[in-house]
Amino acid sequence: MTTSHIEHIGIAVKNLQESIQLYEHILGVSCYNVEEIPDQKIRTAFFQIGQTKIELMESRDPEGPVSKFIKRKGEGVHHIAFAVENLADALGEVEAKGFQLIDKHPRQGAEGLNIAFLHPKSTGGVLLELCENPSIKK
Ligand code: ZN
Repeated sequence: MTTSHIEHIGIAVKNLQESIQLYEHILGVSCYNVEEIPDQKIRTAFFQIGQTKIELMESRDPEGPVSKFIKRKGEGVHHIAFAVENLADALGEVEAKGFQLIDKHPRQGAEGLNIAFLHPKSTGGVLLELCENPSIKK
């Protein structure tokens, strides 16, 4: 698997609007996209920092994964996402290496990316996401 860069860092927040203001204040960069992701029961907000994005995630469902994360651990860093060229191939490779996949197959994520998560049980407690930008797929 070849990863070119950290595509984004996902941060779980309780209140998206307040957190957008906080990050705009810290970074001096404006949020450029707010997007509803019904599949993950979240609303997201994005900041571009060089090649990498910050993804703020607010839960839209008290039983959703981000709500459960905040109940367990509080607000904070939720996952790290690596950009890969071919997601299906990358998933096959990491599975063959013995990592546990949450998503066996790519699914649609925010920003038009194809995404898949690896289980934190097999990655030292960190939720890792792999993502592929279909518009630059070879
Ligand atoms: Zn993500």
